[in-house]
Amino acid sequence: MPSPDTVVTRFAPSPTGYLHIGGARTALFNWLFARHNGGRFLLRIEDTDRARSTPEATEAIFDGLRWLGLDWDGDAVSQFERAPRHAEVAHEMLAKGEAYRCYSTPEEITAFREEAKAAGRPPLFLSPWRDADPATAPDAPYTVRLKAPRTGETTVRDEVQGDVTWKNETLDDLILLRSDGSPTYMLAVVVDDHDMGVTHVIRGDDHLTNSARQSLIYKAMGWDVPTFAHIPLIHGPDGAKLSKRHGALGVEAYRDMGYLPEAMRNYLARLGWSHGDDEFFTTEQAVEWFDLPQIGKSPARFDFAKLENLCGQHIRASGDAALLTQLDAFFALQNRPAMDDNLRAKMLAAMPGLKERAKTLPQIVEMAGFLLEQRPFVPDKAGRKVLSSVSQSMLKDLTTRLQHASWAAKDLEGVVREFAQEQSLGLGKIAQPLRVALTGRTVSPSVFDMMEILGKEESLARIEECAESLTSQTS
Ligand code: GLU
Repeated sequence: MPSPDTVVTRFAPSPTGYLHIGGARTALFNWLFARHNGGRFLLRIEDTDRARSTPEATEAIFDGLRWLGLDWDGDAVSQFERAPRHAEVAHEMLAKGEAYRCYSTPEEITAFREEAKAAGRPPLFLSPWRDADPATAPDAPYTVRLKAPRTGETTVRDEVQGDVTWKNETLDDLILLRSDGSPTYMLAVVVDDHDMGVTHVIRGDDHLTNSARQSLIYKAMGWDVPTFAHIPLIHGPDGAKLSKRHGALGVEAYRDMGYLPEAMRNYLARLGWSHGDDEFFTTEQAVEWFDLPQIGKSPARFDFAKLENLCGQHIRASGDAALLTQLDAFFALQNRPAMDDNLRAKMLAAMPGLKERAKTLPQIVEMAGFLLEQRPFVPDKAGRKVLSSVSQSMLKDLTTRLQHASWAAKDLEGVVREFAQEQSLGLGKIAQPLRVALTGRTVSPSVFDMMEILGKEESLARIEECAESLTSQTS
């Protein structure tokens, strides 16, 4: 059992089929806060909507969290399975006089509202059963309603929004159990959070009003109200509500686009939280720094370009072997064949050059084309342009020189430089056609590094093949 002052947070998604980017940010904040405080981060699946709560939809949430590296403590709790406990609490409230049985029918409630509206009164339903003599109760279906205070105020202390106060006369006697005996969301959340020992509820500010009504349930039960932190929702770069076009996707879409999980964590942490001017940081630093007062009050704006830049920085900061492992997972995801040991060794050797400019995993794959693709290399358009001003004899002469070179990047560069000087050409005039010969492209890692990694035989074969293609073009 955690000690009484241990921080306990939770992420409580409803399974919708994927882990939405906004949900991922909420999960991250809860995870960071728990880890920062040496506390526990719990997961509860709010699966009371049986039509949507398929095992696949729940699995998609687990997958998203796992990919993001947000490990939860203990087993995930199913809210649906706890329905008997929710009902038990409702009955306890009945026994304590904090709740009552309401026999009003939906038609009566509608009629009440219409009358109130016509008379210019607030449409809040006031049940005649609140103070009725139980002896007069009919043998009919009933809902269980909270006997909410009619006067005074309810204040929620929110770590982000400050104190938020509601007049109790605006809060109705909310339903705890429906007439079929099933618990409402409002009751289930409170009972679950209490039973799970949740000390801090960090969630989207679309739940702020719920927190007032939920506070009333805590108070009716004599339970401690947790600390609330309602975080502003994420908006698009134009300030409008986040839409698919803006990046309101599931986290698996970001995984498929080849963003690194650590870059996602960094980026999502910055969406609404800050630590001074720090933009790039590690997860360890975020855990060390994270706290609630640094959560902003205004909506954060989602910005793809920023995410991509951060990802590039994380790629450069990653160890070569770690990146190779990420590539393995990315290949598996794309159903590409796994790399064999020989290719892995070459990829590892090439990694320092590959990660220099890449911002995502697909960009690394693109740069690694010289290793991943097979001969013959058909030059792309820019490559053809470079080759159009190259003579076959030049490439052949160069091949002869290279045949006698010692096969290390530094030495190869020396040989090519010397050759360029003899021909009174700039290095680029030789290196660029070489690049095209080796890769078919005009953008790649360093030519000399590539030659070293490919080895003498393969490099020369590529250059010769390219020279041959020039012959056939000119003949
Ligand atoms: N299940 C709710 C949602 O997905 C969250 C409830 C809560 O965090 O209290 O929006």
